[in-house]
Amino acid sequence: MPAKKSEKPAKKPKNRPVKDSRRQKPAWQQKIARERIAILFKEAEKQAKAGNLDLSNRYVQLARKIGMRYQVKIAKPLKRKFCKYCYSYLYPGLTCSQRVKDKSIIIKCFSCKKIIRYPFGKTGPKREKQAK
Ligand SMILES: [Zn+2]
Repeated sequence: MPAKKSEKPAKKPKNRPVKDSRRQKPAWQQKIARERIAILFKEAEKQAKAGNLDLSNRYVQLARKIGMRYQVKIAKPLKRKFCKYCYSYLYPGLTCSQRVKDKSIIIKCFSCKKIIRYPFGKTGPKREKQAK
């Protein structure tokens, strides 16, 4: 009689480790990422001044990618240097126009024609400190 193969092999519990790439990166890596983003924005400004807008847009793209990979937020002053809709580098007078109206900076992107507003001044509606 042939041996019956009805017995199922015991299932091994799959303890696959969570992919490391999805976890938060260590602080030292995030620090380097922040530095790299700052350098890329500096380079982007240089290239925009020289008229190489394609290159400066590319630097913004790279900076955003680094930010996403290392879960690093792009600093506020740098965030205002690119369009939040089409991510093109914003250089006042060259790729965007800047106006001040009603206590906010109004930036118009020339490549996607969208308008971005930023509250102007330290006493924004949300940050207003209550006087004693
Ligand atoms: Zn735009």
